[in-house]
Amino acid sequence: MATEQAYPEIREAVAALCARYPGEYWRGLDDAKAYPTEFVQALTDAGFLATLIPEEYGGAGLPLEAGCAVLEEVHRSGGNGAACHAQMYTMGTLLRHGSAAQKQQYLPAIADGSLRLQAFAVTEPTSGTDTSRIRTRAVRDGDDYVVSGQKVFISRTEHSDLMILLARTTPREECAKHTDGMSVLLVDMREARGNGLEISPIDTVMNHASTELFFDELRVPAANLVGAEGQGFRCILDGMNAERILIGAECIGDARWFTEKASAYAREREVFGRPIGANQGVQFPIARAHIQTEAAALMVQHAARLYDSGQSAGSEANMAKLLASEAAWAAGDTCVQTYGGYGFARDYDVERKFRETRLYQVAPVSTNLILSHIATRELDLPRSF
Ligand SMILES: Cc1cc2nc3c(=O)[nH]c(=O)nc-3n(C[C@H](O)[C@H](O)[C@H](O)COP(=O)(O)OP(=O)(O)OC[C@H]3O[C@@H](n4cnc5c(N)ncnc54)[C@H](O)[C@@H]3O)c2cc1C
Repeated sequence: MATEQAYPEIREAVAALCARYPGEYWRGLDDAKAYPTEFVQALTDAGFLATLIPEEYGGAGLPLEAGCAVLEEVHRSGGNGAACHAQMYTMGTLLRHGSAAQKQQYLPAIADGSLRLQAFAVTEPTSGTDTSRIRTRAVRDGDDYVVSGQKVFISRTEHSDLMILLARTTPREECAKHTDGMSVLLVDMREARGNGLEISPIDTVMNHASTELFFDELRVPAANLVGAEGQGFRCILDGMNAERILIGAECIGDARWFTEKASAYAREREVFGRPIGANQGVQFPIARAHIQTEAAALMVQHAARLYDSGQSAGSEANMAKLLASEAAWAAGDTCVQTYGGYGFARDYDVERKFRETRLYQVAPVSTNLILSHIATRELDLPRSF
């Protein structure tokens, strides 16, 4: 018995699309460290990446919970949404904080797939999780901002036309609050690359298209400022909550893939003259992973519905991401154990998904930072930083 599944038609359609991209497809990309161009194009053509864009801009105008259904199904099918999920939450920053002209200029093209907004640049080598200490500066010069600095682990920059960039426009020491003085700029990657922006790929344990960015006096038109100058942190916060909920849904997809795979294998694999799944030492961990997954799925659903109702969902988004990422990891570990030696053989996809799902306890936002948020905001415990 699984948690009630919202948007069954979307789930069915996404599952049918994903069936065209089986394990061999993802393994081939892994070998070549290549981007899933055909898969992303198919999702775009089917309109799934425009799920959250309002109808007036050519999207489906559906709530976040529908986006969760799309991404959960991608992961439940054995695929990976990390190649394109950013469009769903980065678009929100533009939608909520962009000017009417910016929305009209970009959203219809993002909705029809002719423009990709897949990159979101916050993390820096010297500030890590402490966003208020970012050093990338954007200095106003006439009709432009001049950007210098460095970002790290920024995903999909080589496969995106636009990027949401968070930079300091006022030094931290001059701001009343340390989260003031940062601004969001929309960077056109097609013009920026080679003209003040250099991109260097980062090789990671999973195939993730992550990169390091070097800004050397990159000129960005002031017209590309999203929201008010100095208010950038607030502009990205909503999007970060959406990101955590959507990635929670991906983790639920992973967790369900792992428990379904483990159960099927445990029913079929015979050792000592009976299916290994008849042994409680094998079946109990799978049952436990299922229980953990269904509990986390309820939290993801709750957070999505709260977000969709317009209420503050910060803590719920964090709790959903923590529970779902841990459920996926537990289910993955159980799946590897159930498969025995075959859990390490590439042809079964278990080891690939196991590598992929580990990320979500670190990014976006690590588990410790979520615990700190809950401790200090929900439980009124003293802050340690
Ligand atoms: C594959 C990948 C893709 C990514 N994509 C993007 C992207 O597209 N855009 C983007 O902006 N970022 C991206 N990131 C960055 C990601 O969000 C960060 O790696 C993550 O937030 C952690 O930051 P950090 O690596 O600097 O770790 P740090 O901040 O250096 O932290 C290291 C460890 O110390 C712990 N820690 C730090 N401070 C405390 C504290 N006060 N109390 C307790 N524990 C603490 C953390 O929990 C963590 O476990 C990506 C990362 C990866 C690996």
